[in-house]
Amino acid sequence: MLNPILTEDQLVQIHAWLKDCQRFVLCGHVSPDGDALGSTLGLASYLKGLGKDVTVVMPNHFPEFLAWLKGSEDVLFYSESPELVKKTIQDAEVIGCLDFNDLSRLEELGEIIGTSSADFWMIDHHLQPGDFCKVTVSHPTASSTCELVFRIIWQLGGLDAFTQESAEAIYCGMCTDTGGFTYNSNNSDIFFIIGLLLKKGIDKDVIYRKIYNNYSESRIRLMGYVLYEKLQVMADCHASFFTLTRDELEQFNYVKGDTEGLVNIPLTIKGMKLSISLREDLEKDRVMMSLRSVDDFPCNKMAEEFFNGGGHKNAAGGRLDCSLEEAVEIVKKAICCYEPLLVDKK
Ligand code: 5GP
Ligand code: MN
Repeated sequence: MLNPILTEDQLVQIHAWLKDCQRFVLCGHVSPDGDALGSTLGLASYLKGLGKDVTVVMPNHFPEFLAWLKGSEDVLFYSESPELVKKTIQDAEVIGCLDFNDLSRLEELGEIIGTSSADFWMIDHHLQPGDFCKVTVSHPTASSTCELVFRIIWQLGGLDAFTQESAEAIYCGMCTDTGGFTYNSNNSDIFFIIGLLLKKGIDKDVIYRKIYNNYSESRIRLMGYVLYEKLQVMADCHASFFTLTRDELEQFNYVKGDTEGLVNIPLTIKGMKLSISLREDLEKDRVMMSLRSVDDFPCNKMAEEFFNGGGHKNAAGGRLDCSLEEAVEIVKKAICCYEPLLVDKK
C-alpha cells in the first residue's frame, strides 16, 4: 500500500480538471533528463488514456540516449519550433510543470508560459517550490518526479489502466534520478512501486542497459581523457573537479548527453565527498556546472551560493557567465568556503 500524497483540496481540483478540461500541456525543465522526460511522458500517457489532448513541451532537446522512450518522438521543443510551441501553450487549459520548481528553469520558454491564462499544476521534488501554480504537489524527499507521478496516478485509481509504456517511462526517471538506485532511494515504497512496474511488464535490466550501456566510442574515450588528464583532486578536502573546453568536446565528437554521468565517477574514489564538473557551453558564452556529493554534503546550497543554480542535496547544477579559468577560481573558492563540511573531523 502507498500513502496518498494529494490533499483533499488537490484531489478536488484535479478531478475538476479531468472532468472539465480537454487540452493539457506538460512541460519539463531545460536540458531535460530522464526524470523530466519520463515524468511528462508517463503522465501524458495516463491523461491520453482518459481521452485528453496532451502535448509534451520542452525548452530544448533531451539527450539521444532517452530516445527509446515511447512518445518521445512526439515531444515539441521550443528551441526548434517556437511558433508551434507558443500556439500549443496559448490553447492549453492546464499546464503541468514537472520536475522543476520555478519558471526560470525553462529559460525563454518560461516567459511565454508565464503569460498563459491556463491553470498550472506543479509536480516536483526540488526544494523551495515557487508560488505560481493552482495545485503544487511538491515533495522534496521523493526520489524523483516520476515516483510522484506514479503515486498520483495510483491515488486517482489509475493503476489498472496504467500501460507498460508508462511504466517504462516512470522506471526510467526513478532510475536516473537515483543513479540506478544508489542514492536517495532508501524509502521502501520505491521498491513497492518497482514491484508494481515489473507487473506491468517492464524489463528493468534492459532499461538499465538502454540508459547506462548505450555510449558511443568517443564518449568512453572522453571519459578516459577526463579521468587521466583533467581530473584535479583536492585530497585534503575530499573534493575534485574537472573542466571541459569547447575544443575538447569537439575533439571527442560531443553530442548532448555525453557528459552526463561523468561527474559521478570521481565519487568512486575512497573518501571522496564532492565532485564538480565545469563544461563550456556550446551555444552560449557560459560555463555549465554539475555537482555531486555523498552523505550530507549540500550540493544545492553550494550551487545556489556560488554557481547561480540549485538542485538537490546530492545532485545540483548551475552556470557561470565567465571564462572557464575564472570559473575554476570560483570553484576553488567555493570548496575552501565549504572546507569545514569536507575535511575529516579530528
Ligand atoms: P545536472 O548536473 O544533471 O545538470 O543537474 C543535477 C540536478 O540539479 C538536477 O536535478 C537538476 O534539475 C538540478 N539543477 C541543475 N541546475 C539547476 C538550477 O539552476 N536550479 C535548480 N533549482 N536546480 C538545478
Ligand atoms: Mn528530478
